[in-house]
Amino acid sequence: MLRTPRVLLVEDEALTQGLLRAFLEKEGLAVEVASGGEEMLRRLDSEDYRLVLLDLCLPDEDGLVLLRRVRNHWDVPVIVVTSRTDRSDRLTALELGADDYLTKPFDPQELLLRVRNLISRSAARIEASAGGERRRYEFNGWTLDVGARTLVAPNGVEVVVTRGEFDILAALARSPNRVLSRAQILDIVSHGIESPSERTIDVLISRIRRKAAAIGISADPIATVPGFGYKLRIRN
Ligand code: CA
Repeated sequence: MLRTPRVLLVEDEALTQGLLRAFLEKEGLAVEVASGGEEMLRRLDSEDYRLVLLDLCLPDEDGLVLLRRVRNHWDVPVIVVTSRTDRSDRLTALELGADDYLTKPFDPQELLLRVRNLISRSAARIEASAGGERRRYEFNGWTLDVGARTLVAPNGVEVVVTRGEFDILAALARSPNRVLSRAQILDIVSHGIESPSERTIDVLISRIRRKAAAIGISADPIATVPGFGYKLRIRN
């Protein structure tokens, strides 16, 4: 059974926070609030949410930048709820992978219906992938389990990787057989890395390789594409 769906409301205006929270909680959802981007990322890192409601005008970071980070890093559905009515913002948000877009002022009942739609669709997806098949990737004999956050070598040994190392592998695994540039990888994983730079990506990847070598695995888990970036060759 799924628990009470937990929703993350990313909103800096106290009034909207309070109204939305009260409304959604009355409708049976558990609502947690983040007042800015940094807090949002911290919460997404530590908790599972079924949905994110994202305001675009936040004090510390532009909502569209945050949206891209969420999309690159988590599966959670996102509804943008904003007073920005620009067509270009709306298109950008949808292009970046927002599942829905609602402009303020909005009809709370309409928001609720959109929230329920997305939550029930994602519940169906979660059930369909129960057992975790969708969240497991295999490459060169390696298995990366995104749910359990484990990396298992071809010889069955679990390799302990740091968050930055894991996130790079997960980013590559989510774009199977595609080359990602250092800049793209950095963009996806940078909030998990201290003082990120493109060079950091090389360093983390060579650490992953060293860990593989240390347990006697010669098959390189990651393919280097000289002058461009990295990729994983994934068999379906
Ligand atoms: Ca705002």
